[in-house]
Amino acid sequence: MNYDLLIDRHTLEKFVNYYHPFVEENTDPRILHVFKSPDFRITVYNSRKVLFQGKDAYQEYALWAKHLGQDVEPEIDVSTYVNEHQSKRVIGADEVGTGDLFGPVVVAAALVKPDNLEWLDEQHVRDSKTLGDAKIREIAPLLMQKIPHQVLVLPPKKFNALTKEGYNMNKIKAYLHNHAIKKMVTAHKDFDEVILDEFCSKDLYFSYLEKEQVYRDIFFVTKAESVHKSVAVASIIARYVFLCEMDKLSETIGMTLPKGAGAPAEAIAKLIYLQKGKAVFDDIAKVNFKTFERIWNKE
Ligand code: MG
Repeated sequence: MNYDLLIDRHTLEKFVNYYHPFVEENTDPRILHVFKSPDFRITVYNSRKVLFQGKDAYQEYALWAKHLGQDVEPEIDVSTYVNEHQSKRVIGADEVGTGDLFGPVVVAAALVKPDNLEWLDEQHVRDSKTLGDAKIREIAPLLMQKIPHQVLVLPPKKFNALTKEGYNMNKIKAYLHNHAIKKMVTAHKDFDEVILDEFCSKDLYFSYLEKEQVYRDIFFVTKAESVHKSVAVASIIARYVFLCEMDKLSETIGMTLPKGAGAPAEAIAKLIYLQKGKAVFDDIAKVNFKTFERIWNKE
C-alpha cells in the first residue's frame, strides 16, 4: 500500500541525507529524488510531497509523519480492499518488460467477474512474478480464451524512438495503460470499476497524459494483483505475450535472449555487439538502459 506526506524544506534536507545511500538516478523533471531499496521506493516530488511504496512503506512513512509531528494514519489492511472488490466486475491492468534489457514493453487489461473467481483459483492464478515461465505458457492461453482482455505490445524500436523524444519509462507505461483501458471500457461495458497496479502517483499518471483523451475513473493501488484477480490475469497475459515476443526476437537474432537486465542479458548483449554491431539493438533491446553505456564505451 502507498502512503504520502508533505515535508517542509528544513526536514527535506535531513530526509535526503537519511536516504542518501538509496538514491536512484532520476530523469523526471517533476521528481526531486527517488530512493530505492529492496523493501521500499520513496519518491520526493518538486512539491515536496513524498510517496512511500513497497513492503516497508508504512514503517518509513510513520517514522517521518511522527518526526514532522503529523497525525500518523493507521496502516491500511489489504484484506479490506480484497473484500470490497470481490463482488465487483473489475477491469485490471498490469505491465511487463519494463525491467528487461531485451524485448518489448507489454501492457494487458482483463475483465474478471465474480463468477470467474472460482475457476481462476483452480487455475492457480496469481501474480505473474510468482509463476514460472512454463506455468505462464500453460495457463495464459486458457485465460485468453475465457477472459475478455486487451494486450498492447510496444516493440523495442518504438520504445527507443519514444525515449529519444524524451519519454521516460513511467510516461510510456501511462500511455500504454490509458490506451489499453480505453480499449477495454469501449469493448466491454459490463464492468463496475478499473484497477491499476500503481507504478507512480495518481497525479503524476494524469500529468503524463495531459494531452491525451484520458480514462480517469481508476482505482490506483500497489500490489493490485492481491487486491483483485483481474490484475493477476492481466499480468499473466502480459507476461505470456512478452515471452512469445522474446521467442520471436531470439529466433530472428539466432540466440536465446535472456530476460531481465542482469549478467546473463549483459553477456549476450556484448556477444551480439561483437558479432553484429550496434545498429541491430534498436530492433531488439531498450537502448536507453545503462548496460549499453558500459558495452559501447568499451569500444
Ligand atoms: Mg505491476
